[in-house]
Amino acid sequence: MAAKVDPEKCTGCGACVDECPTDAIEMKDEKAVVNEDECVDCGACVDVCPSEAITLD
Ligand code: SF4
Ligand code: SF4
Repeated sequence: MAAKVDPEKCTGCGACVDECPTDAIEMKDEKAVVNEDECVDCGACVDVCPSEAITLD
């Protein structure tokens, strides 16, 4: 399991990058991208995203 970003919904605000405790998220071409190997499924990014672009599944 890992957080997943819907690039259609991501506005590139960067809030999830700041919130992730394991630095699993980086910006690529102004979209958030999750490194699944570093994600610990904490859900912080899901909660902080203003665009509801991130899901845990
Ligand atoms: S679920 Fe937690 S560890 Fe995984 S990308 Fe989101 S904030 Fe980072
Ligand atoms: S918080 Fe949401 S909208 Fe902002 S960069 Fe992350 S995924 Fe994109």
